[in-house]
Amino acid sequence: MSENGIIKGCSFLTEDHPLEKVFIPEEFNEEEKMIGKLIYDFVEGSVLPKLDELESLKEGAMGATLKEAGKLGLLSVDVPEEFGGFAQTKAVSMLMAEKLAKSGSFQVAYGAHTGIGTLPIVYFGTKEQKAKYLPGLATGELLGAYALTEAGSGTDAMNAKSKALLSEDGSHYVLNGEKMFITNAGFADIFIVFAKVDGDKFTAFIMDKDMPGLSTGTEEKKLGIKGSSTRTLVMEDVKVPVENVLGRVGRGAQIAFNILNVGRFKLGAGAIGGAIHAIVDAVSYGKERHQFGQPITNFGMIKHKIGEGAARCFAGQSMVYRTAGYIDQNISTLDKADENYDAKTIDVGVREYMTECSMMKVFCSEVLDYCVDEAVQIYGGYGYSQEYPAERFYRDSRINRIFEGTNEINRMIIAGEMFKKGAKGELPIFQQAKALLDELMGMPSLDDDADDGFLSEEKELVVKAKKAVLLGLGTVAQEMGEKLKNPMEHEELLGFLADMIMDLYGMDSAIKRSEKLAARGEDENAKFAATLTKIFCNEAMHRIEIRGRDVLATAVAGDMLTTTLAGLRRTVKHNPVNTVMLRREVADVLIEKEAWPFY
Ligand SMILES: Cc1cc2nc3c(=O)[nH]c(=O)nc-3n(C[C@H](O)[C@H](O)[C@H](O)COP(=O)(O)OP(=O)(O)OC[C@H]3O[C@@H](n4cnc5c(N)ncnc54)[C@H](O)[C@@H]3O)c2cc1C
Repeated sequence: MSENGIIKGCSFLTEDHPLEKVFIPEEFNEEEKMIGKLIYDFVEGSVLPKLDELESLKEGAMGATLKEAGKLGLLSVDVPEEFGGFAQTKAVSMLMAEKLAKSGSFQVAYGAHTGIGTLPIVYFGTKEQKAKYLPGLATGELLGAYALTEAGSGTDAMNAKSKALLSEDGSHYVLNGEKMFITNAGFADIFIVFAKVDGDKFTAFIMDKDMPGLSTGTEEKKLGIKGSSTRTLVMEDVKVPVENVLGRVGRGAQIAFNILNVGRFKLGAGAIGGAIHAIVDAVSYGKERHQFGQPITNFGMIKHKIGEGAARCFAGQSMVYRTAGYIDQNISTLDKADENYDAKTIDVGVREYMTECSMMKVFCSEVLDYCVDEAVQIYGGYGYSQEYPAERFYRDSRINRIFEGTNEINRMIIAGEMFKKGAKGELPIFQQAKALLDELMGMPSLDDDADDGFLSEEKELVVKAKKAVLLGLGTVAQEMGEKLKNPMEHEELLGFLADMIMDLYGMDSAIKRSEKLAARGEDENAKFAATLTKIFCNEAMHRIEIRGRDVLATAVAGDMLTTTLAGLRRTVKHNPVNTVMLRREVADVLIEKEAWPFY
């Protein structure tokens, strides 16, 4: 924790965060819950009835639905009040993303407009740009899109070829180039476009759709999210006034990457909403579907899928709101009178938790994939039929591992940032790793201060998981040192470490949320939460052990491998619990309620 009581990014590894700093979604106040309900009702009343129109890309349907949401104030959650918004906390923004999850492609169009299409102006626009664009973006009068990707530069976004040249009289830039896969391109009024001034200064511009020379290609025919408009954006000698430069010339990367951080944790919230919806829907189907003379939800293998999916959702949901809470606490320390306040909310407030944002993206998109896959399986052959919703869930889910930075790149960020924070001395990662190595070389400790309190065994697992991660990070840093400066040569290793780090954060977050529920006297939910937590922690611990072995076998060899593996075995040693019975318990609750029982 920093001196002003703010939780530092990644510090869940090196310290135990006090419960009062951990936000859980059950702590939303009544007004915030109402906002969540408003968007949920909007999806039920205004999106789902026209899902077929939207999913078939009916001309004008998506734009009109976004504008309808705008009239209800649902597009303005991240826009400051002075520009027509009703700026809410990041936690509320997550709640909205989660509650949208049933809406299929609308969720993607909404996310692109309110996120990457609007936020660059909120955070980096001048007063004039904000006054000109934000009121319209907040009401839906203007719809936004974000154009970074090009055919030759996706993951490697800085390698863009689009060019901007300043006119001789200095009044405008002339832009040429082509952007690829631009969400909302078919109906957007404004585009945040990235191009290189003089071929090397990566810069963001605001472009109006009516600017001569700007056009879009035909709709991309996609695997999923078929109702979301995805087109190329073509710039042929487009004259963009200099006042439309967003931020400073050459500082486009700061905008592009900061905006992606927000996009990533919102994607995490949306993905968890989708995963929960897929499970609950599959439970409802499974109760009606009889085989061998009984509902298929009676069968152990089906209960396994329900229980396992629910446990992963609970961990993901707990991680999402915990992270949002840290971001909100961090933003609350910034000086609102500072003229750079808006930029700082993202460049300082959110950026501190860049690793957590990447974790939300990767972990939750993979939980979603697990849940939609098992939902199709629960539907059996009907899951493969377009007549039933599971087929669409399955197709729609897949994009989440690709956009907002692929999961491969985000895994590299997760582990890479841990090394950086350790190397810069921002967190005592390597000191703790060294102390652990010394401890492991010594005699095993015999002290057994067994605690039999609430989730005590799982808390013990977290202590072990932290040690396993520290052992991995410490061994890799010690053995590879300088070589790590080129992370692309050690990608698999970083991927293994990222998996361990995400599972650790999931375990710790699920435990802390369960503890808070118990402390709030929400006994029934606390009991259910504890069951979910036990399942997750046990499974995560198995994965951490396997990944830990992978890390060590990649980083060291010979005697060093033998010694560190022995250390890892000592570190992670634990007795497994009967997760079969626990998953059955969870499935029985969901089968009875046919709803996610939390908040
Ligand atoms: C439906 C849809 C909507 C989209 N919306 C937008 C939008 O609104 N705006 C926008 O700007 N972009 C958008 N995108 C683009 C999206 O962000 C990119 O597709 C994504 O960043 C990946 O880039 P790419 O497709 O060029 O894949 P590539 O970069 O070619 O990557 C291909 C594979 O190689 C892997 N890879 C690449 N480099 C590395 C590395 N160093 N290490 C390990 N693996 C690596 C990737 O992880 C991936 O698995 C959208 C894409 C889709 C499909």
